[in-house]
Amino acid sequence: MKRAIFPGSFDPFTIGHYSVVKRGLALFDEIVIGIGVNQAKKNLFPLEKRIDIIRQAFKDEPRVKIKAYTSLTIDFAREEDAAFILRGLRSVSDFEYEHTVADANQKLSGVETIILFTEAQYSFISSTVVRDLIAYGKDISAFLPPDVKI
Ligand code: ADP
Repeated sequence: MKRAIFPGSFDPFTIGHYSVVKRGLALFDEIVIGIGVNQAKKNLFPLEKRIDIIRQAFKDEPRVKIKAYTSLTIDFAREEDAAFILRGLRSVSDFEYEHTVADANQKLSGVETIILFTEAQYSFISSTVVRDLIAYGKDISAFLPPDVKI
C-alpha cells in the first residue's frame, strides 16, 4: 500500500490544497491529510472546523483520511506507516523552504517528499489570502474546495 501524508496547517483548507490531494490520489493508494497542531500558533479556524471543512471536501473519497498531529512531521509519517510526504509548490518563494525541509526529512528518516506544482489558476491562493478576505467580509466560497460550506 503506497501511503503519503499531506501535512499543513490548513487554516483553512483551500481549493489549492484540494487540487494537490486530488492529483496525489493518482500517485498514492491512500493520503492522510495531517493537520499540524501548534499550540503557540494562533489560528483563525479552530481544529474542529478545519477538520470539518476537509471532511466535507472528501466525503466521497474513502482513500483520503484526516488526522491532527502534534509531533514532528517525520514522526507522524512513521506513525501512519507512510513512506512519502506530499507537498504543493506555488512559486519560487515556496521552493527554498520546501527544498530545505524535504532534504532534512529525507536525511533524518528516509521519508521522500513528492512535490506537485500548483495548477496555474490556483497559484495565488493561500490560507493567508483567504483569512485576509474573511477579515474584510468578502465571499471566499470560490477559494474553498467544491461543495464546502463554512
Ligand atoms: P504550511 O503551514 O506547512 O505551509 P499550508 O497549510 O500553508 O501549510 O500548506 C500545506 C501545503 O500545501 C504546502 O506544501 C503548501 O505549499 C501547499 N499549498 C498551499 N496553497 C497551495 C496552492 N494554492 N496550490 C498548491 N499547493 C498549495
